[in-house]
Amino acid sequence: MGHRILIGPIGQLVIPGDTGLTLLEGGGLLIEEGRILWSGAWKDRPAGHTPVEAFPDACILPGFVDPHTHVVYGGDRFREFLMRQQGKTYAEILEAGGGIHWTVQHTRKAAEEQLYRTARTRLKEMLAAGTTTLEIKTGYGLTLEDEGKMLRVISRLQREGPQRVVSTFLGAHVVPKDVPRTAYMETLFRMMEHFRGQATFVDVFVDRGAFNVEEADQLLRHARNLGYALKVHMDELSHTGMAVHAAEHRVVSADHLDHTPPEDLVHLARADIVAVLLPTVTLFLQGERLPDVNSMRRLGIRMALATDMNPGSSPYYSQQTVMREAVRLLGMTPEEALLGVTWHAARALNMHHQVGTLRPGFFADFLVLDRPHWGYIFYEPDRNPVREVWIHGERQWIRPA
Ligand SMILES: [Zn+2]
Repeated sequence: MGHRILIGPIGQLVIPGDTGLTLLEGGGLLIEEGRILWSGAWKDRPAGHTPVEAFPDACILPGFVDPHTHVVYGGDRFREFLMRQQGKTYAEILEAGGGIHWTVQHTRKAAEEQLYRTARTRLKEMLAAGTTTLEIKTGYGLTLEDEGKMLRVISRLQREGPQRVVSTFLGAHVVPKDVPRTAYMETLFRMMEHFRGQATFVDVFVDRGAFNVEEADQLLRHARNLGYALKVHMDELSHTGMAVHAAEHRVVSADHLDHTPPEDLVHLARADIVAVLLPTVTLFLQGERLPDVNSMRRLGIRMALATDMNPGSSPYYSQQTVMREAVRLLGMTPEEALLGVTWHAARALNMHHQVGTLRPGFFADFLVLDRPHWGYIFYEPDRNPVREVWIHGERQWIRPA
């Protein structure tokens, strides 16, 4: 028997799952070796343990999972933000050397240590906002050397923790400037082979200005054969028709979906593909197009939420902000939003047996709020109620007094 920690009584314990949120008023947790051994009503706690901590006035809920981020990048795009505020169009900004190519240029130029340090700072901000697991994509290097540099930074963040990090190869983000399409496709095949074992997922950006459905088919087929799990960015800027292909490839998640019509969503539903929705992108770019949440709900599609943290279209750190925008902009319920950053987000990373809820066997990754109900995230919308962040049964962050 390993070292055991009993925590309780807990004012409110939140346990997400397929039937929604289970709320225990007066709950307890028993933790062993970083995992939940028991969770339930305090009155039913296992005998023979002395509680080491009590949180009678607090709410405890699973740490947030952010299943779609680009937090490793060089430079920022503040100048571009100012240009947009002055009324410059996206095309004019691209013309002036902005947009994704700006980030590629600055990521290539940045030393590995510099990339690491800036990403490390971003992860700290995310931790304080309650994110305990996150996915990080490459995609600003676009050469074997520079994508390799990004992967090494991601893997260092993964090793050092405290957050759990899932690594995704997104060489297929955009075709780099000055490289012919067909030549870059060949480079992508080679990179996927080379980086085998260094990333869990391969992701492809399928859209106008990125990759088309035929190219995505080839890339995903190759990635699958190499043993990667799959993701797609799709239908963000236009309707691509990728949904039926995503279902055939059995991608784990399809992300964005702002232009996906109901007849396409049917294919995602049939293949039990998680929809990852990114409302802060719409907010930041002042977009008008929104994903069809009503149809997703009707079809029983799992809706996960993510920050898409990146310097161009979503410089957001907090899944709390994402939850609030999911309710305000997308019309999700607060309960759907919380499931979207826990239970369903874990599934979007194939981690639904490890994180995203607080049932026996899952990692003891949880947040202690200084409020008695999780709904205060919405009730006091510009205040961070997170007082403590625990990962693997250990306190990793406490709000400074
Ligand atoms: Zn993205």
